[in-house]
Amino acid sequence: MPELPEVETVLRGLKTVLMQQQVSDVVVRCDKLRWPITANLKSILMRQQVLALARRGKYLLIHLTKGTLIIHLGMSGRLCVLTNALPLKPHDHVDVVFSDQLLLRYNDPRRFGAILWTDEDPYQHVLLKKLGPEPFDSAFTAKYLFETTSSTRVAIKALIMNHHMVVGVGNIYAAEVLFLSGIHPATLANQISLEQCRLLVKFIKQVLKKAIEQGGTTLKDFVNSQGKPGYFSQKLKVYGREGLPCVSCQSLVQSITLGQRTSAFCPVCQKAPKIR
Ligand SMILES: [Zn+2]
Repeated sequence: MPELPEVETVLRGLKTVLMQQQVSDVVVRCDKLRWPITANLKSILMRQQVLALARRGKYLLIHLTKGTLIIHLGMSGRLCVLTNALPLKPHDHVDVVFSDQLLLRYNDPRRFGAILWTDEDPYQHVLLKKLGPEPFDSAFTAKYLFETTSSTRVAIKALIMNHHMVVGVGNIYAAEVLFLSGIHPATLANQISLEQCRLLVKFIKQVLKKAIEQGGTTLKDFVNSQGKPGYFSQKLKVYGREGLPCVSCQSLVQSITLGQRTSAFCPVCQKAPKIR
């Protein structure tokens, strides 16, 4: 699933090629994504110019002359920019063609993504307005996290993955952040100390920043003849390492299920929560 660092990498790739481009054609082959693609997208977008590109959480925002195209990649969405129209592959649902013969192609096998138009403030859109702060925002502090945790009796892992609290911490990054912070994923949020909140905030910023930096190294391939976007794999310390030795203490990494998601953790480095 594309996570925040992948979306940020796609954004940076799009910025290098789409700025000031004018829409010259739109082809929607299948409009049944998680929500139906905005009707009449072609007549809406035609001749509009790309003025800016941005990201909010995992939503890509393409700001055009008369409004904003909001794109979410869902579970399996991919965006690529082609310099000539390659033969269609299965699940190539949407093409937006620009005046320089650039073609933005959206592919999504599972169709959980979204392509929606708004001519109002996109940040007030129903999908975006309740999102928590960005991880790199100065509003995302240990004090803010502590105030949220102290009144909540859910597992800390579920809380840091809740995008109303902070955006961008998916399952992989939550596991890594909790490992680095030495916090067991099942610890109840209201048992997390201010000092632990400091660690969580520090490592959320650090892990996501590192992933974005690694993604940047794939940017050179963003526009390519294969139409493959630069998603990337990275070295993970605990995620996906169940049954393998912990990178820090050599104990075997275990896993538990929390909120229907598997959580890998080291039973020594991440101590089990105290029972009160
Ligand atoms: Zn360990």
